[in-house]
Amino acid sequence: MAGGMGPGGMGGRGGKYMTEEEKQALPKITKELLARVISWLLPYWKQLLVSLGCIAVSSVLGIMPQVLTGRIIDEGLIGRNLNKLVLYIVLSLLVTLCANLIGVAESYMNTWIAQHITFDMRNAMYRHLQKMSQRFFTGNNQGDIITRMTSDISGVEQVITNTYSSILSNSITLIVALTAMYRKSWVLATIGLIIVPLFTLPTRRAGKTRWNLTREAQECNDEINGILNETMSVSGQLLVKLFCKEEYEYSRYEAANRKMIGLHIKEGMAGRWFRVVLSTITSIGPMLIYLVGGVLIMKYDSSLTVGDITVLVALLGRMYGPVNSLLNIQVDWMRSMALFNRIFEYFDMPVEVDQPVRALAPKEVRGTVEFRNVYFAYEPERMILHDVSFKLEQGKSIAIVGPSGSGKSTIINLIPRLYDATSGNVLFGGFNVKRLDLHYLRTNIGVVTQDTYLFNGSIRDNLLYVKPEATEEELIDACRRANIYDFIEQQPEGLDTMVGNRGLKLSGGEKQRISIARVLLKEPALLIFDEATSALDSISESRIQEAIDPLVKAHTSILIAHRLSTILAADEILVVKEGRIVERGRHDDLVRLGGVYTELYETQYMRTEEKTEE
Ligand code: ATP
Repeated sequence: MAGGMGPGGMGGRGGKYMTEEEKQALPKITKELLARVISWLLPYWKQLLVSLGCIAVSSVLGIMPQVLTGRIIDEGLIGRNLNKLVLYIVLSLLVTLCANLIGVAESYMNTWIAQHITFDMRNAMYRHLQKMSQRFFTGNNQGDIITRMTSDISGVEQVITNTYSSILSNSITLIVALTAMYRKSWVLATIGLIIVPLFTLPTRRAGKTRWNLTREAQECNDEINGILNETMSVSGQLLVKLFCKEEYEYSRYEAANRKMIGLHIKEGMAGRWFRVVLSTITSIGPMLIYLVGGVLIMKYDSSLTVGDITVLVALLGRMYGPVNSLLNIQVDWMRSMALFNRIFEYFDMPVEVDQPVRALAPKEVRGTVEFRNVYFAYEPERMILHDVSFKLEQGKSIAIVGPSGSGKSTIINLIPRLYDATSGNVLFGGFNVKRLDLHYLRTNIGVVTQDTYLFNGSIRDNLLYVKPEATEEELIDACRRANIYDFIEQQPEGLDTMVGNRGLKLSGGEKQRISIARVLLKEPALLIFDEATSALDSISESRIQEAIDPLVKAHTSILIAHRLSTILAADEILVVKEGRIVERGRHDDLVRLGGVYTELYETQYMRTEEKTEE
């Protein structure tokens, strides 16, 4: 489970070297990818320029104290000139102070830019995901969605605050240090440089290990998020408790957690060994400069001074850090490109149900519905609806009945465009739903689903969510019509009674009636009820029935019906089997047909009717 890595994802196995498969998973850094990354930076070009200026100045100033050390030694100490000694010391201190102050400005600028870019990305991603159809949310792991929204985008922040400024400041420091060294002595500068390629060996190796570990840690993180999401949700933990799966879930969580600490320890140690090798190699350079510099002064009477040699050693010391960082940057760079890839992958997912270009929002709203030869498939290879056609007139009602899994919910999902028909047309108020403004379409359709979702808050909060401007009278009226007001009145807090997480402090029947009140507040032109199949007690059922019956009479409505009384209240009954409308008509005619409806009637509806009568 978890992971759910897409094609550009990072599902590596780890190890010391990258396998061929893993190498192929590395993001291809194309012009398009870079252009896309840059397009996110462009709105902040002014701030980027300021940050670039700060980086350049602070990198150049950062080198100055090393250069001034030569003057301190030669002109101040060896030349025994106290004035110059003090001057260079003060200058050196001032330069360091300036470099640090500019460094502060640079950090502020980079953090500001990074925060604003990630702010833009998060918002754009949220907007994009809001437009995704049900298919996306049913088909994707929630942990993966949350990881992309949170840690992947935070990774991008790191790229901007660290990688970008590190590349710039290290390159500038390196260029300035090299120029200063070559101006002092090309022989010693070249010797110092010879040592640099030795870095490539351990750096590349450590880089590969880090890269693999990062990928594995990310996969592991997805897995942990997935487990938490599944088992810490209200329904998830209920499932765990009722099936006594605590130990199983704990061991799954513990295993993923253990894997994570293993990876973190490995990551820490990979860096440690790397530093041991590196510090050994870095100590060779200065010694070589002292040796060759000494030989040049003593044997060849070179014009070099002790101060020059000290400066060269100091500059060489300044070079190793940037060289090391720049060599390592490849890993950070690849990592950040992989992050961008993962984020862009989500942005690239087509919005299946989108706002039409010239959206219609007719003034006169009619709740009529028409299906014209509609076919629909969730997955291309399995057609769910076959040639569904029916017409619901204004003020009339249709009951859809059929065995479980026959496609009843699927039919109603197509009306508010939770999905679009694969072929054929769905019309609302006489217009093809694909041409109607999405907001218009959905505000004019009220759906009461089987699985009622109330968020944690008061009954009032849940009602106001659909109509924030509703008056107290409107709220009470909606509750009355939904047959829930008696219950609310009995509560000490009335409308301010808290419903608990997902409404779990309420009974199934109460929740359903509140959700009916919520839908009524919208005053929709079309009402859709997906009647609960779950057995409610007969009192609850009759309360709901009392709420629904007058509404069905007063509104244009479609009902997925499981109870005979609901079916009898409808003007037409559609019998669905295996995604096809196999029978249609009024109850008495259908019973006489002796087909699917008769069988359903005899096996189900008669029973529920008996139960209600008890
Ligand atoms: P019930 O009365 O049990 O609620 P139903 O008649 O409403 O059933 P639907 O929910 O419309 O049936 O499902 C019809 C078929 O579509 C089922 O076979 C189901 O497995 C399949 N199905 C439903 N939702 C999806 C989905 N998101 N992805 C793939 N297949 C799905």
